[in-house]
Amino acid sequence: MSAPGTLFIVATPIGNLGDISERARSVLREVQLIAAEDTRHSGQLLAQFGIDTPLVALHEHNEAQRVDEIIARLRAGASIALISDAGTPLVSDPGYRLVAAAGAAGLDVRPIPGACAAIAALSVAGLPTDRFAFEGFLPQKRAARRARLETLAHEPRTLVFYEAPHRLGEALADLASVFGATRQAVVARELTKLHESVYRGELAALAEGAAGDPNMARGEAVVVVAGAPADGDADAEAARVEQLLNALLPALPLSKAVDLVVTLTGLRRNRVYERALQLKRAQADAEDA
Ligand code: SAM
Repeated sequence: MSAPGTLFIVATPIGNLGDISERARSVLREVQLIAAEDTRHSGQLLAQFGIDTPLVALHEHNEAQRVDEIIARLRAGASIALISDAGTPLVSDPGYRLVAAAGAAGLDVRPIPGACAAIAALSVAGLPTDRFAFEGFLPQKRAARRARLETLAHEPRTLVFYEAPHRLGEALADLASVFGATRQAVVARELTKLHESVYRGELAALAEGAAGDPNMARGEAVVVVAGAPADGDADAEAARVEQLLNALLPALPLSKAVDLVVTLTGLRRNRVYERALQLKRAQADAEDA
């Protein structure tokens, strides 16, 4: 019986074809089979590198069934590569079940690292990277998205989100309303591609930009958001005011909500009132958009 083969987890470009590594190309050429999320899409990519290794589909709808088949081929001695449509497999892409099963079976699993949109965005965001949390895609429905964001509002690490182009505007509006209008963030769009652009600023300004500039909401994007300020900072105070107002404004008239927040925080009424007005306006804009 031959020795078992190796499962290679191979990163492919997120746009610019020049970002595939030499090692990735030679592994993809030498393995007996490539498992790909979308065989048509990957077939075209591989053809550009002159690679004609057979492909098999492994996507979120068939991964559970395909795993046994691929593990059997690995056990029989075939080496197999896993790729996704773009970037690093398993990062908001299929492959987790396969890698878990290969690991549990004692098979050799090796990474061939390369492009990843989250890491590329972090590398140009200019926000702290000593600690960060990758949050992947936010829920698509507004209520679920806001509920998820509420759980993250006090997270001190830099946060990284993936977002579909048509939802970028509403995601930024919700981020501004839950995390506070003035939290710093970066939208990294179409990285490594022709129309690559990086927008930096406060969440409310970025949300406004996305609503007013159709280009910004076109193409693929990563949103990187600064972590919550440490307790005791002026920013933390602003975030607390905002959190209270966000909880009270839907249930009370504006002046009553402001009175309550002034009582709870001891802050000047003018400041709280100003913020309440901004939030009301942002909410109205988000509803109109
Ligand atoms: N596995 C991929 C990786 O390593 O980045 C991510 C796959 S996930 C299904 C696709 C999401 O990644 C997009 O919706 C977008 O948020 C982000 N993305 C992928 N390519 C990108 C690019 N060139 N520029 C910005 N974001 C990108």
